[in-house]
Amino acid sequence: MPVSAIPSPRPPIAIPNTAQEVLGEAEHDALCAEITALLRAEDAVLVAHYYTSPEIQALADATGGHVSDSLDMARFGHDHAASTLVVAGVRFMGETAKILNPEKRVLMPDLAAECSLDLGCPADEFSTFCDAHPDRTVVVYANTSAAVKARADWMVTSGSALDVVNHLKDRGEKILWAPDRYLGDYVQNETGADMLLWNGACVVHEEFKGEELHALRRAHPEARVLVHPESPRAVIEQADYVGSTSGLINEVRMARATEFIVATDRGIFHKMREAAPGKVLIEAPTAGRSATCQSCAACPWMAMNGLRKLRDALRDGRNTIEVPAAVAARARRPIARLLDFAAARRQEVYGNNDA
Ligand code: SF4
Repeated sequence: MPVSAIPSPRPPIAIPNTAQEVLGEAEHDALCAEITALLRAEDAVLVAHYYTSPEIQALADATGGHVSDSLDMARFGHDHAASTLVVAGVRFMGETAKILNPEKRVLMPDLAAECSLDLGCPADEFSTFCDAHPDRTVVVYANTSAAVKARADWMVTSGSALDVVNHLKDRGEKILWAPDRYLGDYVQNETGADMLLWNGACVVHEEFKGEELHALRRAHPEARVLVHPESPRAVIEQADYVGSTSGLINEVRMARATEFIVATDRGIFHKMREAAPGKVLIEAPTAGRSATCQSCAACPWMAMNGLRKLRDALRDGRNTIEVPAAVAARARRPIARLLDFAAARRQEVYGNNDA
């Protein structure tokens, strides 16, 4: 059995106390009209992540934009003719969009919209960690800064991680994995690869509780349990399906079950309801006897993407994402490696994987 090791505990991440924007109907409608006009005037398209608010997702769809996972957001932005991409999500998504679309202007509603996985993996510390293990292939999750990707051999998404790691294991390679220790643990458990794990976590998925999930399943014995692999092992072990955001939505659409317990950010319910109207969606528990919940199934950084900030960014041309050319050139390599790998295997990476 391969051995994994985790570096010493990392300092806790400061979690912002962000609530989702609440608007009256009149302001909501006025903002949507103003943003729609600005998108046209600025030759811009809105791309949003599944975890943003229903209002942002609906506006992206209504204006010819796109709602998806981070890599597919970047792909859509690349294929779209617009010269400006407005990325509603978190910062690494804006960076990935910029890395893959260097000729385009990339704006975000709020540059302070971070991610605990990204924040928990500073590039300088990570680089030192890599230097200490030169015999290992460096594989990083999409939820990392451009500077961390620039230090990596491979980037993976949650939907491609098992295939890539199996491929590397078959080649006899040992892996240094960052930043999510839960996703890393899941991948190691599934593949048996020799993986050294960075000690990061998603503050949303980390809080799903195995004990309380047991109780919820007893109360809903017919429910199918869908789990994102950034969740702890005690939660993943109870899953009927483990997969990326796109995979989870597809599972709700395709499965015969009519009731689902879902362990991921509740923002995904908007697309799940669209995909399978009438099916019952139940949030996996973050509360209960073992609760330590701070974010409670809602990412505090995703919540920074309100319509007012989106309008301001577009109107004022502010919050532009810049990635230094040398960093972008290096960061593009592990991303391109994943895309080439997927293409060679005739896999559909885009729209079937996420961060
Ligand atoms: S839900 Fe977790 S992984 Fe996704 S952006 Fe928020 S903190 Fe990062």
